[in-house]
Amino acid sequence: MADLPRSFSPSAASTYDKCPRRWKHRYVDKLPDPPGEAALVGTFAHRVLELLCGEEPSLRTVDRARELAGEVWPSVSKQKDFRALDLEPEAEREFRWRSWRAIEGLWALEDPATVNVRSTEQRLSAEVAGVPFRGIVDRMDNVEGGLAITDYKSGKAPRPDRRREALSQVLLYAAAVEADTGERPTQVRLLYLAQATIEEQVSDEGMAEATDGLASSWASLGRDCASDQFEVRPGPLCGWCPYVTICDEGRSEVTRRVRSGRIPNAPARAALGI
Ligand code: SF4
Repeated sequence: MADLPRSFSPSAASTYDKCPRRWKHRYVDKLPDPPGEAALVGTFAHRVLELLCGEEPSLRTVDRARELAGEVWPSVSKQKDFRALDLEPEAEREFRWRSWRAIEGLWALEDPATVNVRSTEQRLSAEVAGVPFRGIVDRMDNVEGGLAITDYKSGKAPRPDRRREALSQVLLYAAAVEADTGERPTQVRLLYLAQATIEEQVSDEGMAEATDGLASSWASLGRDCASDQFEVRPGPLCGWCPYVTICDEGRSEVTRRVRSGRIPNAPARAALGI
């Protein structure tokens, strides 16, 4: 029998929903799951935007963001996870460019000087639909008529049919804010840097859909922990799973997809030597 975790975050819930076995390896077995290059680009961009939005509105300019990126870079480049990427100088320059394009991409979506920021990197801890929920909101903004929950994304914006699924994370943050403070946020927003904003007004229906999903995952996780049985769910993400070398089903899935030319750049190829 595995211990049920003391809290459940949106990223843990997402990992569990995609593949319970991967969740077990990460959260029960505590096997390393180092962030890849794309995740580190996101961490760098998030940190710069957090500092930028902590400035007075008139100072939230592209030039100031460039200065902040220069100030933050030394700490990023010294991180163990970044050094583990072992990038050649050209690849490191590309990493910095990708990060800068994400940072500068904020201005394609909004002028941060006009945003009424209430807080950044706000930690949340509340019971949501019976689940001990934890999370960190990138930004909470005062907007006309209430409060907006805003999250930055440096990855690819989802297809239209995946937008509701993507918004569930910020809807859960909204539910946690309401559970903790009594104030219901009025709006949730995902800022896909340099690409698009996905947003919606908070409604009973949207909140219920997100919190029901969380409660359902939590209940399923409880059953898996009690039985110590965690299903494997092979799919395209096996190509990016750090546990593929110890997972027979994942290995078969990646091999099949490589043979059909569907995941040419997946890191699992190198890990499996195929
Ligand atoms: S390789 Fe695939 S099936 Fe195996 S644990 Fe990872 S995500 Fe799950």
